[in-house]
Amino acid sequence: MRQAEYEAFAARIHHGYEYGENDGVGFFRAVALSKLPGLLHGFTARMGGVSAPPFDSLNLTFGKVDARENVERNFEIFCKAANVPYESLCIINFEHGTHVAAVTHADCGRGFSIEALPPCDGLVTNDPEVTLVSSHADCGAFFLYDPVRRAIGIAHAGWKGMLGRIGKNLVEAMVNNYGSNPGDIIASNGPCICRDCYEVDATLAAQFEAEFGLDCSAQGKPGKHQLDLEIPAAVQLLEAGILPEHITLMHACTFELPEFLFSHRRARGTTGDMAGFIKLV
Ligand SMILES: [Zn+2]
Repeated sequence: MRQAEYEAFAARIHHGYEYGENDGVGFFRAVALSKLPGLLHGFTARMGGVSAPPFDSLNLTFGKVDARENVERNFEIFCKAANVPYESLCIINFEHGTHVAAVTHADCGRGFSIEALPPCDGLVTNDPEVTLVSSHADCGAFFLYDPVRRAIGIAHAGWKGMLGRIGKNLVEAMVNNYGSNPGDIIASNGPCICRDCYEVDATLAAQFEAEFGLDCSAQGKPGKHQLDLEIPAAVQLLEAGILPEHITLMHACTFELPEFLFSHRRARGTTGDMAGFIKLV
């Protein structure tokens, strides 16, 4: 996409998020999604859980040093606050890839009470019994809702997923599985590390520029660039046919909000994960 073309689209995109707390758990949300009936969604803040530092306190990922019973308790706390049943949860099994899985009520509990899904960084469903869940600690999220076909999608997207266009794959999964028209889909990203805080090698920045055809980074220290994950997120949604006025970019930086958000990079490795979730109601 040409730079000028993107800038014209960007002027029509929604920017920003709303933040609210329920039962001691904080949620970042896109206004364009939260005002729609028939849908719950959000991206959790880190407070209100039972995990000790460095996972303090609402760590929502299994498989780290944090005890499994802590994470299970945290998910119970999350479910109560988000108003979704624990039994409805179905979580991605991320590998920093671009695979999207379509799930149904038969997959409720995958990664919780029953076997995890095969590796996948994105999930779609049209089944109101399922709560789709993703994990994040700097990496971006995609939330998609088609209010016409009543279908939803969620994805985890670090730089690898972003470069591989998992956001575009997510839209295509909704088109292929549920007959969605991209023009009907309302989309948002989630909190992620921002350009000012995300230093990468110049070669990786050049890969993004070559892939998406426009500037996704700013010059940093010698040999370094500051990569913006939100521009490629928006570009791939636009390429997939989402209307710019149906896209929200939250501009909530995980690195800069230590009270609210875990950041893998700020913590230099060991930290908890936030969860994104979306559910038809
Ligand atoms: Zn930042």
